[in-house]
Amino acid sequence: ILTVNEVTKQYRNNELVLKAISLEIEEGSFTVIIGPSGSGKSTLLNIMSGLQKPSSGSVFFGDKDITQFSEHELADFRRLDIGQIFQQYLLLSHLTAEENIRIGAPATGGAYSVQELAEILDISGVLDQYPGELSGGQQQRVAIARALIKKPRMLFCDEVTGALDETNSRKVISLLHQICVKYGVTVLFITHNYEIARTADRVITIKDGSLIKDIHHKNPIPVEQMSWV
Ligand code: ATP
Ligand code: MG
Repeated sequence: ILTVNEVTKQYRNNELVLKAISLEIEEGSFTVIIGPSGSGKSTLLNIMSGLQKPSSGSVFFGDKDITQFSEHELADFRRLDIGQIFQQYLLLSHLTAEENIRIGAPATGGAYSVQELAEILDISGVLDQYPGELSGGQQQRVAIARALIKKPRMLFCDEVTGALDETNSRKVISLLHQICVKYGVTVLFITHNYEIARTADRVITIKDGSLIKDIHHKNPIPVEQMSWV
């Protein structure tokens, strides 16, 4: 679904943060990107999601190079085709959970119902509450619903369990796996956690801006079997 060709990134005149990264992401897969702090994970993810431009190289979504998109095409791509969630939930504090979720829905085109997503994500009972009245885990699940309501083809997740405790992290990871299967959405998931990586179809390791390992799991472990360290 996504093909990254020889992508490099340099901030100002500093050294290369990404050094000619090439990879292909298969539709419907759940891929973890792991690596040390500062290795370039977020930069790579943001280039794949169109949030940042590479210094050189291309990123094909189907047969279109997203790095060559006009502002308008890029806005459509981000609004319709992909969802992205972060460690910070980035909910609007003056809107209820339901209103926050509806913000993700495109004005035209397909969308899941809030009720369906809320049921899957176990937030049906808190839809009329404000973010300040929700736990971190609930806020992140609202953010997931907001990212999914547009029926995206891909979901980009950057350290989304970084601020959550073990119970809530497990719940979020388990839900993301369920969503990947149920809706066929392609998930890219950055983490520092090697246990989370064991639950993925594929684990890409980035170090100093290079892809140093790319492992496909024939039998990823179920989230319930994940130990927590
Ligand atoms: P972490 O695990 O800590 O989130 P990361 O692997 O996601 O790290 P990146 O955020 O991609 O790493 O950063 C890679 C390198 O690029 C770091 O050295 C960082 O300081 C640098 N960098 C990131 N964003 C910018 C920016 N906007 N301007 C200048 N340098 C940046
Ligand atoms: Mg990062």
